[in-house]
Amino acid sequence: MIRYTLACDRGHDFESWFPSSASYDEQAARGLVTCPVCHSAKVGKAMMAPSVARTDRGRSAPAADPAEMSAPAPALEPSVPLIAEPERRMRAMLRALREHVTREADHVGPRFADEARAMHYGERPARAIYGEASADEARALIDEGIEVAPLPPAPDDRH
Ligand SMILES: [Zn+2]
Repeated sequence: MIRYTLACDRGHDFESWFPSSASYDEQAARGLVTCPVCHSAKVGKAMMAPSVARTDRGRSAPAADPAEMSAPAPALEPSVPLIAEPERRMRAMLRALREHVTREADHVGPRFADEARAMHYGERPARAIYGEASADEARALIDEGIEVAPLPPAPDDRH
């Protein structure tokens, strides 16, 4: 829809809507566009620039600022939500892993290094264990080729 501000030959200004500028031209040529005040068919456009009705945002939408249009759009940072989601999932996975370990494995406490080493060298039947070890003990186990992994912290350990 296009809104035209029209004026008749007697100086009456009025607004009228048309499906298109071609439709206005056709109706005006056929004398169908008349002044609502004096009904004169001798009307013409009072303004050169018609107002185009916007169906998406409504007519109340402010006109685009030329300076704003020329300015580059601010750089988006899509990595922010993408980091948050895996972080949240990872915590859930770690929490599930911890729950699995603490449910299925034997808690050996500070004897973890000795137990792990004993199982590694066949002194005891292999089983899943978890417990505590110092950083030096953990490093020594890894150096000996014993597979150990840090137990994920409990959710309450964080924050
Ligand atoms: Zn008139």
